[in-house]
Amino acid sequence: MMLLKNVFLNGQIHDILIDKNRFSKIGDAINIETNDTIDCTGKAILPTFCNMHTHASMMFLRGVGEDLELFDWLEHEIWPREAKLTPEMIYHLSRFAILEMIKTGTTLFLDMYFYTDQTIKAADEMGIRAAITYVGMDNFNVDETQKRIEIAANFLKEKSPSELILKGLSCHSIYTTSEELIRTFKQMSLQNQTYFHIHMSETKKEVEDCLIKHGKRPVALIDDWDILDSKTIMAHCVHLDEDERLRTAKSLATVAHCPSSNLKLNSGQMPLQDYLNQKIRVTLGTDGVSSNNSLSMLSEMKIAALSAKNVANDSTAAKVNNIFKIATSNGFEAFGIQAGKIEEGYLADFMLVDLNNCALMPNINLISNMVYSADSSCITDVFCNGKALMRDRYVPHQEEITEQFQKLCQQIF
Ligand SMILES: [Zn+2]
Repeated sequence: MMLLKNVFLNGQIHDILIDKNRFSKIGDAINIETNDTIDCTGKAILPTFCNMHTHASMMFLRGVGEDLELFDWLEHEIWPREAKLTPEMIYHLSRFAILEMIKTGTTLFLDMYFYTDQTIKAADEMGIRAAITYVGMDNFNVDETQKRIEIAANFLKEKSPSELILKGLSCHSIYTTSEELIRTFKQMSLQNQTYFHIHMSETKKEVEDCLIKHGKRPVALIDDWDILDSKTIMAHCVHLDEDERLRTAKSLATVAHCPSSNLKLNSGQMPLQDYLNQKIRVTLGTDGVSSNNSLSMLSEMKIAALSAKNVANDSTAAKVNNIFKIATSNGFEAFGIQAGKIEEGYLADFMLVDLNNCALMPNINLISNMVYSADSSCITDVFCNGKALMRDRYVPHQEEITEQFQKLCQQIF
């Protein structure tokens, strides 16, 4: 058992008892002998973040080929370098990405990349929740479709190393992946009671090309393929028309909003407030660092709020509590995980923040401070499933993880 003494929660000072991996009691003065009692005087407790769309191992591409046109950037800067990656490199890159995510308060991330076994190994060792997907992309080549289906079946068959690793399937997009592969991966996901992830309606070009090829818009198209349901998570969804928004809301599918990436690649701005009004379950993601250039959900919240106000032309849009919710509890909810709230019975995924940090002063509206002024130095401790991932800003093995990453970058460049 673990006891948090004198911690600030919802405007009051409380003691919080954690039994194994759940909050068991929240009260005024809990006096129980435990072997782990933390004095939280001057600290507040908050739920942790879910990064609902990323490509963790792209860490080495931070700052590479900036300010280029999308295809020029992919062809000359990104793809040739990705082609050099080995499984061992993916392991070290994943560890470095997870280090940054822990330091910025994330305890669940949804990943789409290759050599998935290496990312699973890294996440398992570091104790973070990770939704790791095997990616389907066949470039409409029938042989490739069959190959991917076989690999995906084996991927799902292999047992996860722990309950914190959630295996699922993803498809890159409708413009790189055949209908057969998308439908089959969704079916396999359902049979395995797991989620399905895809890039969707990221750019106007994607929508225009889809209309020419299929006579329908992307979300309408995949809905007609029976892809949309409560276990489907769609990244981006910048350009949905009214019909597609209704389909998304009705199906209970999840949108992973990536505002930094959309702004940086000039893909457009998702009308967040409209989606919230239409009861679409929106969550937040950073996308890979190549288009962000950070994995911090703190800056993602701020950009989400600013972008939403701008696109709605309304300063009352994207209220801070809603922004915090899409970054925290909505993500856990999409996976059916009972976390993202500091309440008795909930899983103990939480962070402690330092109320004596200048960025959190004055403490009049903590959630607003977290959305608009906090940086990673405000977060002192991060716990996932009742276990510490970071104590007093120290993540186990952080020096070695950083050193390996630096070495690897020298090797690649
Ligand atoms: Zn992406």
